[in-house]
Amino acid sequence: MKYLQFTALSFILVLSACQSTAPDPLPKKIVGQLKVGFDVDDTILFSRENFILAPHLSDDPDHVDYGWINTHDSLYSVTIQPIAELIGFLRSQGHEVYFITARPGVNGDAVARHLSHELGFPVTVGDNLFFSTKEKDPLTGNKYTTKHRTISQLGLHIFFGDADNDMVAAAVAGVRGVRVVRDPRSIEAYSKNYFGDLLSEHTDSSPYSMETYQKFLSMGVGPYGETIYPIYLNPDSTRALSE
Ligand SMILES: [Mg+2]
Repeated sequence: MKYLQFTALSFILVLSACQSTAPDPLPKKIVGQLKVGFDVDDTILFSRENFILAPHLSDDPDHVDYGWINTHDSLYSVTIQPIAELIGFLRSQGHEVYFITARPGVNGDAVARHLSHELGFPVTVGDNLFFSTKEKDPLTGNKYTTKHRTISQLGLHIFFGDADNDMVAAAVAGVRGVRVVRDPRSIEAYSKNYFGDLLSEHTDSSPYSMETYQKFLSMGVGPYGETIYPIYLNPDSTRALSE
């Protein structure tokens, strides 16, 4: 009996010793390292043509075939070089970069492959690329962003995006939101969700004209108190994409 007890105790001690030398499963925090998030459409990719050409699945203008869109960035989307350079700069300083898009994740691996090809480092779904689709309030029918959840789960410090929703998500998650100035062609194509709606009549939900928009850009601050990242200061200029 004593021999059995001794054997069991030895076994437990060996297990304990193994546990104490096992690697820490939690990721190590690196002092000074930032985790920086980026939206995809109109932030790292100018994808207007991809969306315009995408098949529609119903008469609802928002009901486009995202499975098609996610596999056609290589043909129809243009990488926004100033943001690609910013990402390269951040990575060169040892910071981590993540992408969070509201696109549905069908064929999401194709988006990851495209971003990897364009940016020159591995982008993988669930590792540094996340599909965080909007949800609908069952009572009001209003759609709302869910990006704040992903921002919080990843522990990001800064989030770059072009849309009002991106700034709301950053604010709700408690991180710094930075507004990437939208290409003028995208303002024309998708004026909603950008400073309210820059092209609509003056209403409570869309109080800003193009003139007041220019004031925001010149002062470097947006309506949610966000910082402006000025890659398209002149709304008539598209040089940033063509260079
Ligand atoms: Mg966007």
